[in-house]
Amino acid sequence: MGEAERGEAAPRFRLSYWCANGHETKPSFSEETEAQTPETWDCPRCGFPAGQDRENPPSPPRTEPYKTHLAYVKERRTEADGAAILEEALSKLRGR
Ligand SMILES: [Zn+2]
Repeated sequence: MGEAERGEAAPRFRLSYWCANGHETKPSFSEETEAQTPETWDCPRCGFPAGQDRENPPSPPRTEPYKTHLAYVKERRTEADGAAILEEALSKLRGR
């Protein structure tokens, strides 16, 4: 009896981290690494960095305007590519 608890020999504790989207993450650390707990933790749900201060979570990753524009361009290009591919496929179908 009592043998089942032997696996929990290393004391562990949990820290709460909050990301900018309000997700709470509670990674657990062993007490041995307490001094090395990271200031931020990547939110497993949205990938944003999460911090230990709930009221003041770290800023989301840089959202540079050009990125949005690039995404927009990519979207358009994909659309254009898709149209070209479709057209090519259609012309092949018509040709054969
Ligand atoms: Zn999150």
